[in-house]
Amino acid sequence: MLMKILLIEDEHGLIITLTDRLRSEGYEVASALDGKNGFEKAQTENYDLIILDVMLPKKNGYDVARDLRQKGIGTPILMLTARGEMIDKVLGLKLGADDYLTKPFEVMELLARIEALLRRAPSHTNGNQDPGAFRFGNVAIDFKRAEVRRKNKPIDLSAMEFKLLQFLIEHRGVVHSRDALLDAVWGYDAMPTTRTVDVHIAWLRQKLEENPRHPKFIQTVHGFGYKFAD
Ligand code: CA
Repeated sequence: MLMKILLIEDEHGLIITLTDRLRSEGYEVASALDGKNGFEKAQTENYDLIILDVMLPKKNGYDVARDLRQKGIGTPILMLTARGEMIDKVLGLKLGADDYLTKPFEVMELLARIEALLRRAPSHTNGNQDPGAFRFGNVAIDFKRAEVRRKNKPIDLSAMEFKLLQFLIEHRGVVHSRDALLDAVWGYDAMPTTRTVDVHIAWLRQKLEENPRHPKFIQTVHGFGYKFAD
């Protein structure tokens, strides 16, 4: 089955280059030149992945991502941001993007990110469990809305805390090294250190664990890294 990608981007040159390349990699590609048109296409057709530029005419990428998630459309979104706009990346993730890539980028890197997102995406046939929600202990998470509640009270997580938590849950039972978490959650072009991971893990435990010193869910695997309990 051909994977379908929707490319929402206003640079003609980039659309042509990427469309050619993605087709040669075996993807089916549709494109939209502005945010409004892209938003409509994303709702009327089923895509496996959306590549979404931030700066777009008519409706910017943030608004497109947010509105798609609000409509319950969970298609993975890879956002394209301008160089060094860290704030924008965080905002994009909070609004529902799954990953981001900074322009200018190598096409090989884009292809790697696309593959990773498609692998992570829940298969369409596996319909009996809601991939948009997860519960553990007295915590309930709504991934589509990026909302976390504990004992039914809303918990305020930063975009990175949320992304880290989501990654651990999606790969629960698997041990991740700090470096692997940095790559997966912060991205290759970010420059935090492994200490950043420890700090975010500590914050998550403070906010979500009954006893942060003896965490039941967000576990340390000594000498290796972290995992979310099975
Ligand atoms: Ca643009």
